[in-house]
Amino acid sequence: MGLNREPLSATTSTNLTDSERQIMDEIARRRDELVALASDLIAFDTTAREHNDDPAREEAALQKYLAARLRAAGAETDVWEPAPEDVAGSPMTPRGLRFEGRPQLTARFAGAEGGQSLLFNGHIDVVTVEPREQWTSDPFRPEVRDGNLYGRGSCDMKGGIASMVFAAEVLASLGMRLAGDLIICTVTDEESTGCGALAAVAHGVRADAGIVPESTDFEVKIACRGSLMPTITVPGRSGHAGCPQPHWREGGAVNAIDKASLISDAMRRLETDWRQRGIDHHPYLSPGDIVPTMIAGGEWMVSYPASCRLDYHIAYLPGQAAPDGWGGRVRNEVEEWVMRASQADPWLMENPPTIEWAPEVPAAAVAPDEPIVSITMAASTAAGRPGRVWGTDGWFDGATFTLSGTPTIGFGPGNGSVLAHVVDEYIPVDDLITAAQALAIAAVRFCGPASDAHSDAVPVDRVTSPLSGSSKGAHSSLAGSS
Ligand SMILES: [Zn+2]
Repeated sequence: MGLNREPLSATTSTNLTDSERQIMDEIARRRDELVALASDLIAFDTTAREHNDDPAREEAALQKYLAARLRAAGAETDVWEPAPEDVAGSPMTPRGLRFEGRPQLTARFAGAEGGQSLLFNGHIDVVTVEPREQWTSDPFRPEVRDGNLYGRGSCDMKGGIASMVFAAEVLASLGMRLAGDLIICTVTDEESTGCGALAAVAHGVRADAGIVPESTDFEVKIACRGSLMPTITVPGRSGHAGCPQPHWREGGAVNAIDKASLISDAMRRLETDWRQRGIDHHPYLSPGDIVPTMIAGGEWMVSYPASCRLDYHIAYLPGQAAPDGWGGRVRNEVEEWVMRASQADPWLMENPPTIEWAPEVPAAAVAPDEPIVSITMAASTAAGRPGRVWGTDGWFDGATFTLSGTPTIGFGPGNGSVLAHVVDEYIPVDDLITAAQALAIAAVRFCGPASDAHSDAVPVDRVTSPLSGSSKGAHSSLAGSS
């Protein structure tokens, strides 16, 4: 992005105004508070569910803690437990998904008027700490060593959440009121399904643009691939493997593993077809691909296998998505290829494979000329971390907001491709500070300063001693499922 070649406007300048300089200094001065906030968040065990019915952990306590802080900073908060029907029917949602004990949170810092609204979104769930015995320190007792904050979720993405929350708190404490609304939203279930953000969208969370401070190492991520996971079950017919078999039309055995190889050849050809058609090219993303991930066939060592199951992970590019943004077009294509391969085999023609589709996540792309892109690039440079516009091969909740009309980028502290989901996960403390600074500057520039800024805005007492896991001060606005 040749920012230098573009005319510098107030919002894309890499120079700071006096009040932006004041924000930067205030965040740097209160560094320990930001580390304490990130540490408090890490201390809540919010390990993601693996199965629908895995019980909730400390998600509700974490949301309550954040809601109390944000209310103290002057935001209007809403903590609610989504009803299953809020997300039912989406291609993303597993059947029977419920949210007991997993509330979502929004906090709105009301703008004066006339400005654009900005969403800061983060997921509070973290991946398992296993293999636990390999950690140097307790993953839920965060500690700083050599300038890095260690603990599960420090990088993915409680560090990012701490930075976005702290950015909002500092703006409020300095009395810097914005023209547009600043909306903070923290959700569950990103690591498992993406349904927390989906529930937030169903609840009405939207803005003129959004930033998800995932650990992008200060790159501005504007695109991600969608993914599909079909299970293809290929039928055969059992029979004694040591005995000669008559033709299948005369009742003989059919080897499901042999038949499955016809289908896996077809899937490989489909991927080649994508390459040849050039539809899997994108300036910021890896190509789409079709990867066989599991195979299971057969029942007994001396029997013809009666069925064989093939599992795939398919990643596709935004340009391959259906008009509604989801993977319907790619699903149809896969089904056609499998059926066409089956037509070439008499047994499969009469006994076609079946295809089941697991819940999916959509591809998404934000237009490079959306104002939030250049504003965030400039804010990051102004905070000392010039980055680039790029895509992310890992999926993130930003896609859900983008698809629902809030163009949402990924931008945040820590290098997630190295530090996320690992033993001894950490985030550099300097990155937390820089992210909070860049996010605060981006908010001021995107939402615009209120014309009455610094006059009648009332500075709010800042929270200096957050109480981990405490419900102190939290008059709950938990709506409950309805
Ligand atoms: Zn994440």
